[in-house]
Amino acid sequence: MAGATDAPPAQTPLRVVLLGPPGAGKGTQATWMTRDHGLVKISTGDILREAVAHGTRLGRQIQSRIEAGNLVSDSTMVEIVQDRLALDDAKRGYVLDGFPRTTPQARALDAMLADPGLLTILLIEVPFEELVRRLQARRVCGRCGRNADPGLAEGIRCSRCGGSYVTRVDDSDGVVRQRLTVYLEETEPLVKYYDGRATFFRINGNLSPTQVTSQVRDALATSRQLADRGGDAAVKATS
Ligand code: AMP
Repeated sequence: MAGATDAPPAQTPLRVVLLGPPGAGKGTQATWMTRDHGLVKISTGDILREAVAHGTRLGRQIQSRIEAGNLVSDSTMVEIVQDRLALDDAKRGYVLDGFPRTTPQARALDAMLADPGLLTILLIEVPFEELVRRLQARRVCGRCGRNADPGLAEGIRCSRCGGSYVTRVDDSDGVVRQRLTVYLEETEPLVKYYDGRATFFRINGNLSPTQVTSQVRDALATSRQLADRGGDAAVKATS
C-alpha cells in the first residue's frame, strides 16, 4: 500500500527512562534521541551539577553527596523531576537520564504519569570491568559539562563552548567503585520493578555506539507502536 511505511506523526509523546549503571552510555543515547525524536533530555546528574556549579542552596546541600558517589535523597529528586516535567517542553516527550534510581523514585514517577504503562524503559547493560575502564577514561568539559569523544587527543577543547576537558570529580577511582556499588544496591532492583512490562527493553551496551543506537532505535519503534495503540485504547476506555 502506498505510503504504508511512512511514519505517521506521533500521536502519543514518547516518555523514556534510560536505566543502567554509570558509564553505560545513557547520556550518549539520550543526546541522539533529542535530535532524532524531538525528545527533551532530562539528566538529573546535569541538573545537580549545574546547581553545584552555581553555588545555589540546593547545590551546597548536595555537593558532598555527589562527590562521594552517594545518592541525593528521594524527596529532593522527586521534587526536581516533578517540577521539570511540568514545564511545557516536556509535553512533547522526554528522555530521563539518571532518574529513577531507587524504587521509591520509580513509584513516584509512575504516580506522576496518566498512564505509566506507556513509559518506555531501556536498560543498557555493560559488564562492570568495562564500566570502570570507561569511567576512568571519561573526560567532560569543565565549563559546559559536555562529554568529550572517547580517545580525544590531549589539549583539544570542547567543540560546543571551547572549555577545557577535565575528569569529573566523581569519576576518580574510589568514587567510581562506590557509584557502581550504589547502583547494584539501590538501582538494580528497578530491573525487577519494570521487568514484565511490554515497554521494558534490554539493550546490549557492550557494543559500538552505532550498534547500541540501532537496538535503541528498534526498541523505540516498538514502543511507539504500543504507545499509539495504548493511546487509542485509553481514549476508547474513557469515551
Ligand atoms: P549521573 O550524572 O547520572 O551519574 O549523576 C551524578 C550524581 O548525581 C550521582 O552519583 C548522584 O550523586 C546524583 N544523582 C543523579 N541523579 C540522581 C537520582 N535520580 N537520585 C539520587 N541521586 C542522583
